[in-house]
Amino acid sequence: MATFDAVFVGAGINSLAGAALLSKAGWSVCVLERTDELGGCIKTSSDLTAPGFTHEVLASWHPLFTGSPAYAELKSDLDARGVEYLNTELPTGSTFPDGSAAFLTTSLNANIAELTRHAPADGPAWEAMFNAFMANADLSFGVLGTELWSPAGLGLGRQALRRFGRRGLLAYVGGVLTSCRDWLGDTFESDAAHGLLAPWVLHTGLGPDQATSGFMTQVIACALQLGGMPVPKGGGIVLVESLAAIIRDAGGEVRTGAPVERVLVSGGKTTAVRLSGGETVRSERAVIASVTPTQLYGELLGHGDVPATVADAARRYRYGRGEMQIHIAMRERPDWYGDDRLGGMAIVHVTPGLDGVSRAVNEAERGLLPAEATIVCGQPMAVDASRAPDGSWILWIQLQELPAAAVKGDAADEIDIGDGTWTEELREAYADRITARLGRHIQNLERATIRRVALSPADIAAMNVNLVGGDIYGGSCALDQNFLFRPLARAPGHRTAVDNLWHIGASTHPGPGLGAGSGYLVYKELTKPAAPRRLLSSVRDAGQRLQRTVAKA
Ligand SMILES: Cc1cc2nc3c(=O)[nH]c(=O)nc-3n(C[C@H](O)[C@H](O)[C@H](O)COP(=O)(O)OP(=O)(O)OC[C@H]3O[C@@H](n4cnc5c(N)ncnc54)[C@H](O)[C@@H]3O)c2cc1C
Repeated sequence: MATFDAVFVGAGINSLAGAALLSKAGWSVCVLERTDELGGCIKTSSDLTAPGFTHEVLASWHPLFTGSPAYAELKSDLDARGVEYLNTELPTGSTFPDGSAAFLTTSLNANIAELTRHAPADGPAWEAMFNAFMANADLSFGVLGTELWSPAGLGLGRQALRRFGRRGLLAYVGGVLTSCRDWLGDTFESDAAHGLLAPWVLHTGLGPDQATSGFMTQVIACALQLGGMPVPKGGGIVLVESLAAIIRDAGGEVRTGAPVERVLVSGGKTTAVRLSGGETVRSERAVIASVTPTQLYGELLGHGDVPATVADAARRYRYGRGEMQIHIAMRERPDWYGDDRLGGMAIVHVTPGLDGVSRAVNEAERGLLPAEATIVCGQPMAVDASRAPDGSWILWIQLQELPAAAVKGDAADEIDIGDGTWTEELREAYADRITARLGRHIQNLERATIRRVALSPADIAAMNVNLVGGDIYGGSCALDQNFLFRPLARAPGHRTAVDNLWHIGASTHPGPGLGAGSGYLVYKELTKPAAPRRLLSSVRDAGQRLQRTVAKA
């Protein structure tokens, strides 16, 4: 029976980065992946559309990874294995139904000028917002990079209290809770500024009218100016293979086709996992599961392994909206109507503006296909020209406003939804609606398309068991399931009620994205200096024992 210090369940970015970091710290590590490919949501394919075209089937953009502490610690090892990040000064723009557009670049001055073009007050408003954000960036980014349910989280709160005072802290927290709509309305005058920034809220799993969506939009807006839109040259597969190589070079194992069906618990502690074929892999120090709470508490653990309150809360864990991907190989560059700059942007949002995003989110949440979805039109070739033959182009299209479960109807009353399941007909009919709209902005879209491949929420869910219902963010990011409350208010953070069992992945804090945040936080916790760790864990163990006793009583 193989024995390791740490066994990871799943081989997404959080596991691979966490396992690479632990390997470098001298731990023996095993990563077990149920599918035939490593990487989870990082899935690079060269045979999706046409020969010579390399597509990111799912996740594409790596600003969260290049800005992460995991990357900072692994950079020299990744460089040595050939990971090269390419970037752009033109991360994003929005184009509106009348063909007008607004842009965000990596230059503060260019952004001031661009927003002033739309409303004289908006350029200075951008500068003031950016400066105010940067003055407290350690706290704002700190919320996303700290284990909130821990002494470190408490420390962050104390730091904020010292800086702002009690009332100031209350005002800061109020700002964090603001919706995107309210924040945009309070900050910028022009519809163009609103339409430039509002679609970004979708990339945080929220809608523009939800609590905290203003804070998240602000974080992304500033991060775009600071970090651009990097991608690994040649595709995410290069990063995945390099992380796996770091683990293997240190003597660890990385296995595909290895579905974990059980985390084995005895006396309140885990020491092993069992694969579906019956094989057992032992862990001396930690089992780290990158799965949803639904799978962890409903399938991998047995009845009675955790308090009933936790298992109940996991049963009620909610998933967010579904998502569709459309990949298009083009034989020539897209010829965008309107502003020439659109062709150079990494991500263009085709949107009616703030109200359009709000309407499409609301329609999706009511189970409808939106009449006028936000089209997230990614152009990887604007950053990495190695992805397709010279002169040709790739579009990576995301539609993040689709129902979480069965489709109940079509807001435009045009598409026959059948029984509401994602059949091939329904998927292609909706993709037709989207490409027809995109064709009103890209004049050569139809003529230059070599092949289009669409993936429905059901197709996406079938690729990765963590993407329940095609929710690409591993669970709703509404406030009651985010930050301190992720994954569950009954089981916050990454330590679980079972000794030596840790929960990571998009369903846990700091949530979805390629930042490897949860893998990094658990690595830090596991490699903390021994003495304080023993003291802390004995306090926590006592807390957990108390929690179990209270739950049983
Ligand atoms: C279509 C799409 C586009 C996205 N675009 C971006 C983007 O451009 N930039 C960005 O930052 N983020 C993006 N995201 C979000 C981001 O990719 C994810 O939040 C992140 O990759 C999740 O990583 P993870 O570590 O939680 O694991 P995942 O990537 O979800 O991988 C988990 C792995 O665990 C495996 N697994 C699960 N259960 C078991 C088991 N019992 N036994 C063994 N293996 C198991 C799964 O098969 C899977 O391979 C996108 C996501 C999707 C789906």
